[in-house]
Amino acid sequence: TANLRSSRSAPAVTNQQLVEKLVFEKTLITPQIINAFKAVDRKDFILSEDHDRAYEDRPLPIGYGATISQPTTVAIMLEKLQPERDDRILEIGSGSGYMTALLAKIIMERGKVFSIEYVPELKGLAEFNLIKYDLGNIALFAGDGKIGLKSYGPFDKIISSASGKEIPKACKGQLKASGRIVAPLGDSLVILDKLSKRKFKEEKIPGFVFVPLQ
Ligand code: SAH
Repeated sequence: TANLRSSRSAPAVTNQQLVEKLVFEKTLITPQIINAFKAVDRKDFILSEDHDRAYEDRPLPIGYGATISQPTTVAIMLEKLQPERDDRILEIGSGSGYMTALLAKIIMERGKVFSIEYVPELKGLAEFNLIKYDLGNIALFAGDGKIGLKSYGPFDKIISSASGKEIPKACKGQLKASGRIVAPLGDSLVILDKLSKRKFKEEKIPGFVFVPLQ
């Protein structure tokens, strides 16, 4: 996924520089989210042939037509989601596992990330990349995120990195009342707040490019 905003500054060459850039641009604001970005090295989620570009603010291919999202996009999505300590979070599109690791760091040991990936090989990639981080609060699944993970719900928050024509109804149903969904819709990012069983408040931010939802 890519955000169309471009940056004039020289590309970051360390993870620390990447975080400093996102903080300087005020894309990252929340201390817990900033700490997670510092603790999770983006290079660990990038294919070896692209290691020299690991800290550039751009999406990079991870195979199977998917990309690890642009850091600015990941930062915006997490700042909008506002994951909290102990949250149960459903993630659609594990991909490289980068967002999964960030979520797991933010919600701490007693929270849990349930991450579902459509392409079995990418689930394998996420699993491999995450080994190093030894996070005990992640469960990875291969399957279709559009139907959610009913038996593990309801969730405090839901986040998707793949863009469809609508926010999946099943996911809305598996969200706790007062929960929040951050998901792409076409080339916009949508933030849905669940006010009651069927009532949602919606905010839409245009100007993104996302991997399509299968
Ligand atoms: N968060 C990932 C982004 C990967 S791109 C990262 O940080 O690397 C989006 C991912 O969504 C791709 O891996 C793609 O295979 C996956 N995807 C697409 N449609 C899906 C679906 N219906 N259910 C689950 N995952 C899906």
